[in-house]
Amino acid sequence: MIELKNVSKWYGNYQVLTDCSTRINKGEVVVVCGPSGSGKSTLIKTINALEPIQQGEIWVDRVPVHDPATNLPKLRSHVGMVFQHFELFPHLSVTENLTIAQIKVLGRSADEAKQRGLKMLDRVGLMAHKDKFPGQLSGGQQQRVAIARALSMDPIVMLFDEPTSALDPEMVGEVLDVMVGLAHEGMTMMCVTHEMGFARKVSNRVIFMDVGGKILEDCTRDEFFNHPEERQTRTKDFLNKIL
Ligand code: ADP
Ligand code: MG
Repeated sequence: MIELKNVSKWYGNYQVLTDCSTRINKGEVVVVCGPSGSGKSTLIKTINALEPIQQGEIWVDRVPVHDPATNLPKLRSHVGMVFQHFELFPHLSVTENLTIAQIKVLGRSADEAKQRGLKMLDRVGLMAHKDKFPGQLSGGQQQRVAIARALSMDPIVMLFDEPTSALDPEMVGEVLDVMVGLAHEGMTMMCVTHEMGFARKVSNRVIFMDVGGKILEDCTRDEFFNHPEERQTRTKDFLNKIL
């Protein structure tokens, strides 16, 4: 579903991604972790071309993202992205937040968009809040609306960039629960997160990135958590700090 081949990227002279290669098969959940500044956000943003790359290839569902001829708005309409900050439109109601892109990008009718949006809102357990504005919801609820909004677009993959790290601790669980549900339903997911409980529970693979934007580990969940002796020193140090 997603393939990165020898991807490198620079910001000016600074190399932020160095020869990154990996693939994510349909239905796989891949967790990306690593120290701050190691290029995790940049890597995940290259997948829907929010960040351009200078070398290598990125393929999403057989579409060459690196190819200048690729229709990027069309690609992005199928790739769900959830950021650390929820980025809901503050002046629109929850329902309007859920429907606007369906109408403007996918060309759905208002009725169809509302039906789909409310179905997804129900999934994340927030039907009672459909007429509220984002500012009237807690951070955890806003993030669940952001997930429902992405799901309303019928994404073929979901990308998450530290979706729980801006939340108060008591709200982390409700967002992770929604993500666990998605994983169990077979959604293809790439998640930048340091929630190792989530990684242990549902990931198929764990990628560890290190400074300089290098993929230092790309291994199965079992290898990552149950065979620490085989991990690189940098990975072990990192895990010792966060676990
Ligand atoms: P992470 O998500 O792992 O913390 P990022 O992908 O956000 O890492 O950033 C990787 C490195 O690239 C950091 O050193 C950061 O300062 C730098 N960086 C990120 N965005 C830009 C930008 N737009 N211009 C220049 N440098 C950037
Ligand atoms: Mg980041």
